[in-house]
Amino acid sequence: MSAKLPLPESVELLEKFVTALQRRGVLTEADIERRKALTDEGNPATGARMIARAWLDPDGRALMLRDGTAAAEAMGVSMAGAPPLGVLENTPELHHLIVCTLCSCYPRAVIGYPPHWYKSFAYRSRAVREPRAVLAEFGTALPEGVRVRVVDSTADYRWMVLPLRPPGTEGWSEDELTAIITRDDMVGVSLPSAERRQQAA
Ligand code: FE
Repeated sequence: MSAKLPLPESVELLEKFVTALQRRGVLTEADIERRKALTDEGNPATGARMIARAWLDPDGRALMLRDGTAAAEAMGVSMAGAPPLGVLENTPELHHLIVCTLCSCYPRAVIGYPPHWYKSFAYRSRAVREPRAVLAEFGTALPEGVRVRVVDSTADYRWMVLPLRPPGTEGWSEDELTAIITRDDMVGVSLPSAERRQQAA
């Protein structure tokens, strides 16, 4: 007889919850599979392209800041059933850092699955208490005088950061800009830089 590994309590709870929802006709197996397929399509390259377009196109930028969901849908991303997406604009005076203090709320449709550290208790608590120390551990030093605003992603609203366009990228194409923007930049723990292109070359 093969030994059966005990399931973590959270998995058992989730299974019971899903079964109860199915019994009551709130959702079906097909609904779940559709949602999983949509989530699997989420990719940081999508968010990166949104950022690059915002850097190049003032109208696109305005739409993105006004209504992130509409901006994502304008790029062909299905946001059906996803919580609203908000985009926070960094400025020379203000830097944004995103956290879900409760669990792992994250704009998956546009940047994919959250990294493990994003879900960790250490990040969820320290991002709020000592954001600059957390940034330093990611190798991110903000210029003197820049304020840090920590924003909580929730089940009702998901946030991503619109970083500042870095110096040295003047005249770059959308593809070139997209290539230097990472998932972490859109969470706010790192900053894009022109040097990344040289590193990649
Ligand atoms: Fe959460």
